Amino acid sequence: MSQASNTSFKFFALGGGNEVGRSCHIIQYKGKTIMLDAGVHPAYQGMASLPFYDDFDLSTVDILLISHFHLDHAASLPYVMQRTPFKGRVFMTHPTKAIYRWLLRDFVRVTAIGVDSTLAAEESLYTDEDLAESFDKIETIDYHSTVEVNGIKFTAYHAGHVLGAAMFQIEIAGLKILFTGDYSREMDRHLNSAEVPPQSSDILVVESTFGTATHEPRLHRENKLTQLIHTTVGRGGRVLMPVFALGRAQELMLILDEYWQKHSDELGSGQVPIFYASDLARKCMSVFQTYVNMMNDDIRKKFRDSQTNPFIFKNISYLKNLEEFQDFGPSVMLASPGMLQSGLSRDLLEKWCPEQKNLVLITGYSVEGTMAKYIMLEPDTIPAIGNPEINIPRRCQVEEISFAAHVDFQENLEFIEKINAQNIILVHGESNPMGRLKSALLSNFSSTKGTDNEVHVYNPRNCVEVALEYKGIKVAKAVGNIVDEVLQKEEKFVSKNSKDSDVGLKMEETEVEGEEVTTVGENDKIKAEATTADENKKTETEATTANEDGKIKKETTASVEATPEQEDIVISGILVSDDKNFDLTLVSLSDLREHHTELSTTVLRERQTMMVNCKKELVYWHLCQMFGDITVERDDSGVTNQEVSKIENKSSPESEKLVLQIMGDIRVTLIDNMAVLEWNQGLISDTIADSIVTILMSVDSAPASVKMSSHSCSHQHGHEHAHEHEENDAVIQQERAWKIKKLVNLFKEQFGDAFTLMLRKDETVVPSQKEDIMGEITMGKASAKINFTQMKVEECNSNPLKGRVESIMEIGASLVSSLC
Ligand SMILES: [Zn+2]
Ligand SMILES: [Zn+2]
Repeated sequence: MSQASNTSFKFFALGGGNEVGRSCHIIQYKGKTIMLDAGVHPAYQGMASLPFYDDFDLSTVDILLISHFHLDHAASLPYVMQRTPFKGRVFMTHPTKAIYRWLLRDFVRVTAIGVDSTLAAEESLYTDEDLAESFDKIETIDYHSTVEVNGIKFTAYHAGHVLGAAMFQIEIAGLKILFTGDYSREMDRHLNSAEVPPQSSDILVVESTFGTATHEPRLHRENKLTQLIHTTVGRGGRVLMPVFALGRAQELMLILDEYWQKHSDELGSGQVPIFYASDLARKCMSVFQTYVNMMNDDIRKKFRDSQTNPFIFKNISYLKNLEEFQDFGPSVMLASPGMLQSGLSRDLLEKWCPEQKNLVLITGYSVEGTMAKYIMLEPDTIPAIGNPEINIPRRCQVEEISFAAHVDFQENLEFIEKINAQNIILVHGESNPMGRLKSALLSNFSSTKGTDNEVHVYNPRNCVEVALEYKGIKVAKAVGNIVDEVLQKEEKFVSKNSKDSDVGLKMEETEVEGEEVTTVGENDKIKAEATTADENKKTETEATTANEDGKIKKETTASVEATPEQEDIVISGILVSDDKNFDLTLVSLSDLREHHTELSTTVLRERQTMMVNCKKELVYWHLCQMFGDITVERDDSGVTNQEVSKIENKSSPESEKLVLQIMGDIRVTLIDNMAVLEWNQGLISDTIADSIVTILMSVDSAPASVKMSSHSCSHQHGHEHAHEHEENDAVIQQERAWKIKKLVNLFKEQFGDAFTLMLRKDETVVPSQKEDIMGEITMGKASAKINFTQMKVEECNSNPLKGRVESIMEIGASLVSSLC
């Protein structure tokens, strides 16, 4: 398969295309490769169950996102990580990771038994060791948090379906892709339904399991289920419900336990026992208990009110294996695996299916080629698993009532309409339902046909590529001398058009950033819009393309349109595109060599220019207080050599340059009323530069500045000592304010909506001597109070949360302290 070109979006299903099982999709855009899910096909064994990994160079994958723990989405992950050239990063939610561990351990064991013993050695996909090794490398993502890897951003949203299931919205160079994974829009007993991400997506990769089918209302299905079971046990029969060990099984148990409670006179007190037969039964309990806070309000309320785990059932007993099971009379058995391929559920099927009074009740989705799918055809006999030559008669009743948590047509359509994507790619569905869904969607969106907004629907088979030409959205940034050029022209413009000399250009404004460039086709024209100093002024760029050894792609002529007088400023420059992070940089011709060279080593020299409304010595003094170690590169003004008090009295002449080198890398040039910051892009340098900008912006209003201005006066009055103390206090306070702000921002990033800053009336983060700055995190039942002033967690009712908060606090503290 070809690698992604820069112009088109590509999609291939390595599995899950026109089938349910072995979900694995590849998306490529702008040279980035993302893999979605890594499942196995439940109807096949060993290598045959894998997605078509040989058809793709897995070493090119940047990230792999796992939507949920089901085997058809996650079970080949250890294989990918340990036995292929894959070297990307892997992400899933916390509960998915917790459950995945137990499930796959079970999977390794069950498949080792299920596979023909002669094949077992070479056919086993991976071992316990592979599983353990890969497990440690898996990274987790919280719902609603956004992670950025190498220019790829992605955010996890609730998908319903099973505990921990996530949808991912992925963003590459402005293009948004939503992958639903398996999802449900129905609120059930323990899970919330899937959410609609707040931002729309350009491309939607959506499941199509149920095609155009409609679910019966939930209440009907519940009644049918309990009636059917009640009737069966009433006639002395046994009920076998093959279930996947985790997920829907817990939902069914909530329903059954409640029904048994209501009918305890007939069914309770062990009259008709319910068993849950799975190796994982007990482990699941603790996992489900841990994540009650991620479930819906109902179950959380139950948990809160009764202070007991709602997953501890009064009427259900656990069975580890069938040896401890005494099969005397009517009973209800939930047993894994869900599709009767092998193991406990298969053994019970073979034992019970010859008897007419028994019932096999299928509640999950059954994949083509599995026993669960076959038994629904009500065959006369079924092959014995131990010996396919032996046919076992089937006389038992077989019924299907779906509790599979997938959307039906109406739910899917509503969701698809909300996402508003122009390109829809269907996955996770057998050919027929998927085909029907495609037709239904096309007819639903038929009004868009032939328009610019025409909605396209694709139902690709495995390994058939879908390529979409896409209009990208890019961000361009002006750097280097071109900024001065823009500035000069704009200043001229401002002084010409405005008598108010206050129209200073602040940092964000001097940098021509936030340009929205829309490319139309490949080597076409680009049009750019930029907001500069004044909201009334717009920069319009019309550009033609020039290809120069792949690095410099677009030549740009920019014109700054100045309203209301419509005075045009024409700026010529080169638009440089950096393929790694999709940055577009507008530089002047004279800077080209410098920027070109830097780009090839991927070091970017950043430059920011801002107005500073105070004297150089004040700026110098503040920077010295903050950073201490400052090298003076050039000083025409004599600020750094003379007594501050003397300078105070001297009017500082124009055009004297003061060039400072801070923390080795960052150069600050002070000339006239301008400060120019230059540094090489990098995490630490960017943060230091940020803090310098903060200082420069606050210099004239800082309390220390006021003290500083009256410094000469204090000398005369001989109160030097006392004043110095106050100055130091002021600086310390300023430093603290800055540190706290950084920390607060870090927490905002980490916890999103779950974090609230407890602000005082003035709504600013200004530490006062008396009151501490406090923040609060609430995640379901878990909450924490954080004292930012004291840098500690004050109250927390959950140890995992407390640990997390403390480690973020530690990271934050080390980050800010390295700068002071
Ligand atoms: Zn699933
Ligand atoms: Zn699935």
